[in-house]
Amino acid sequence: MGGESNELGKIPQAKKVELLPAFVWTCPNCGIDKFERAVVPELTDEDKFKMRLEYGVEREDVEGLFMMAPTEVQCIECKTYFETMDFGEEDEDSDIIIPFPETL
Ligand SMILES: [Zn+2]
Repeated sequence: MGGESNELGKIPQAKKVELLPAFVWTCPNCGIDKFERAVVPELTDEDKFKMRLEYGVEREDVEGLFMMAPTEVQCIECKTYFETMDFGEEDEDSDIIIPFPETL
């Protein structure tokens, strides 16, 4: 440890890295956070125009990124596969009430 200060923005000749859009999820078994790279499709201006109409984005000066989430993810720790839900989406299966079996 020690040495010169690496205060952000003051590193001489710091290399640049590209920030990639990603999704994060937490494994319910292990509790670890895992990042998944987002799929960012290449869009033509015509595609972007169509998508603005489709999604009701009226301002043309808004810069945004259209990214798609993976539909299935795997935990690197417990190797379990999970289907994914969108942010804020309710798990339909969690509404199913499983009656506790009679023990007598
Ligand atoms: Zn896990």
